[in-house]
Amino acid sequence: MSGFFFEALLSMKNFCVFGNPIEHSISPKLHNKAFEILGIDANYTKILLKNADELKKFFARLNLSGANITIPYKEVSFGICDEIFGIAKKIEAVNTIVRKNDKLFGFNTDALGFLKAIEEFGNIKNALVLGAGGTAKAVVFILQENGIYTELLNRSKERIEFFKNRKIAAFSWNDYNLKEYDLIINTTSAGLKDENLPAPKELLSQIFKKAKFGFDVIYGKKTPFLTLCEENMLTCKDGADMLLYQAALAFNLFFDNVYDETKIAEAMKTAML
Ligand code: NDP
Repeated sequence: MSGFFFEALLSMKNFCVFGNPIEHSISPKLHNKAFEILGIDANYTKILLKNADELKKFFARLNLSGANITIPYKEVSFGICDEIFGIAKKIEAVNTIVRKNDKLFGFNTDALGFLKAIEEFGNIKNALVLGAGGTAKAVVFILQENGIYTELLNRSKERIEFFKNRKIAAFSWNDYNLKEYDLIINTTSAGLKDENLPAPKELLSQIFKKAKFGFDVIYGKKTPFLTLCEENMLTCKDGADMLLYQAALAFNLFFDNVYDETKIAEAMKTAML
């Protein structure tokens, strides 16, 4: 590391996002734009993490004040932090780490980011979550915490045990009986790099006939899930706002919540245009 680079690292606040793969991440664009607009002397970069054991070392080596964590390290980060706050305890996954006095504090802003993204749908009484991975946990628990009755439907049986053990009505395609919901959320990666639906088309079409709203956590493309939502006249949106709000919430945690979240989100949004 050159002397100049090392001094620069010490004089400003440094942040990053860890993941593998990481090339696609737009988090640096969002955070750096907010630093620029809000006049903060800080830097945010992306780091390809090949081994979770190295995460703590990177914090010290790069003098990081905080970081975001993405696929596949959210669960492992939960175990690495010295203390966990808020809904991250239930989700058992961390997407934001704040470092203070050499201690790592873990949070999950995906959950609240999702909740803020669905605000515009208005009053939701019940919901069906498709998928049972890390994102499904964030979505299910925040809906539940906000009094929205939530059921879960997943392709395979294995991952639904986590939810059943926490008294969530969770089903796989084979043992599911049709019900009525206000909101259907796709938290699977079906449609991300392929043209798959998250569940069989006949089943989804039946569910959609009785629903009002659809939400896909995938952003930046019109997925088959969103197309089917529209065909069934559901009001729907993709995961771009969820991405924006989780980033704005993480940003504020990095700075002890001293900034106005709306202003952070507005600043970040200019980087998404
Ligand atoms: P996981 O790998 O933890 O979970 C994937 C889930 O998708 C599993 O339940 C799996 O089912 C299901 N699945 C995968 N492929 C299919 C398919 N072809 N048909 C049906 N089900 C399928 O992923 P994550 O929860 O970490 O991420 C999921 C998505 O959420 C990603 O696309 C990610 O980009 C997005 N995301 C968006 C965010 C945002 O801010 N907008 C934030 C975080 C994530 P099974 O158990 O049967 O394998």
